Amino acid sequence: MLFDVIVVGAGFAGSVIAERCARVLGKRVLIIEKRAHIGGNAYDCYDDHGILIHQYGPHIFHTNQKFVIDYLSNFTTWIEYQHRVQALIDGSYVPLPFNLNTIQQLFPQHLAMQYIELLIQRVGFGKRTTILQLRELSSEPLLQQLAEFVYQKVFLNYTLKQWELRPEELNPTVTGRVPVVISYDDRYFADEYQMMPKSGYTAMFHKMLSDQNIHYLLNTDYQDIVKIDFINKKIQLFGQEFSGLLVYTGKIDEFFGYCFGELPYRSLHFAFEHLPQIDSYQKVGTVNYPNDYSYTRITEFKKITQQRHSGTTIVREYPQRYDRHKAGADIPYYPLPQPTNEKLYQQYKNLAATWSNVIFVGRLAEYRYYDMHHVVARALHVFEKEILPKFSNQ
Ligand SMILES: Cc1cc2nc3c(=O)[nH]c(=O)nc-3n(C[C@H](O)[C@H](O)[C@H](O)COP(=O)(O)OP(=O)(O)OC[C@H]3O[C@@H](n4cnc5c(N)ncnc54)[C@H](O)[C@@H]3O)c2cc1C
Repeated sequence: MLFDVIVVGAGFAGSVIAERCARVLGKRVLIIEKRAHIGGNAYDCYDDHGILIHQYGPHIFHTNQKFVIDYLSNFTTWIEYQHRVQALIDGSYVPLPFNLNTIQQLFPQHLAMQYIELLIQRVGFGKRTTILQLRELSSEPLLQQLAEFVYQKVFLNYTLKQWELRPEELNPTVTGRVPVVISYDDRYFADEYQMMPKSGYTAMFHKMLSDQNIHYLLNTDYQDIVKIDFINKKIQLFGQEFSGLLVYTGKIDEFFGYCFGELPYRSLHFAFEHLPQIDSYQKVGTVNYPNDYSYTRITEFKKITQQRHSGTTIVREYPQRYDRHKAGADIPYYPLPQPTNEKLYQQYKNLAATWSNVIFVGRLAEYRYYDMHHVVARALHVFEKEILPKFSNQ
């Protein structure tokens, strides 16, 4: 056998596992990636004007898990970056997550002070809550009025645009990702570690995958070279029986031929625009447009990467339905966290559990709304708890 481990997908999940298998265990790893590059959705590159952009939308690294930073620091140095976001609400650019500064900017002073006092009394200074919790908690009419304002102006239309669903139709963890903050902390994330890889994500991935035991094939759908015999649970690579380990980070429903039906996703269209001779397009890294325009947000990359350049590049994000048969809408960006979809995923998960030589890990394989740090932590865990024992028993 030429390889001990096959990894499908060169995003965070696949790359961490490939790196660990090669460096810690000395295994020969083949990564199969259908895109023309490594890095998955975290891939970044220089555009035609020399600005570092994130091809699949802005990616900001944040975590509370030091071991994740320690691990990735083997492959990159970092620059400090605290992401700040504004939202255009009633003609004003105000800080997001919705916090006490936002209240002061949107309401006359006496009303703002009343709202702030009530929030501190009922929720507590320094606390974070979700809009759905705030709506439930508000027996007080003034607080009800504020909760309704935040729901309508910040969450409702944004969620409809992004998901074509109302906030209460989604798993509460989704709306909870953007909290209501009872303090003057304007930062988008509250995590202890917030930083960007100094030379970019792709450079970091190249270092991760630089071990001589790692080979990767780009522009290759795994189904073109890996054949799965679902009846006898056997795997072939290039027409030869493969008895090693397959780590799969693609869509779990695709792996099983959609046998229980398709898991729904949301997709996005990214419209990049370069603005020559404009040093700064907007005040902060990202501006959200909950109620205006058909795009959800505009990101200016230089603000995030801190690159110096006489011009700037921005990207507008247009949410769209995912359709694997339709070019331009065929990238599954976001799993759709709803109870019916979770049930469908569980069917695939149960089937996956019957395959002892295939490991399913990552955002698509586990149908989870993971951030990058979650995926790194998950892949390291899977390596320690599932892969190491498999090889040490051999
Ligand atoms: C718009 C957007 C913004 C985001 N912003 C942030 C952020 O700011 N901070 C943060 O922490 N996280 C962010 N994320 C989440 C982050 O992108 C993911 O957590 C992370 O990239 C998931 O890594 P992964 O390896 O699981 O999946 P992916 O990165 O999707 O990698 C899977 C890889 O498998 C390949 N693949 C799939 N099927 C096949 C096949 N049949 N054959 C061969 N290859 C295949 C794919 O091409 C892909 O490269 C964002 C996500 C999106 C969509």
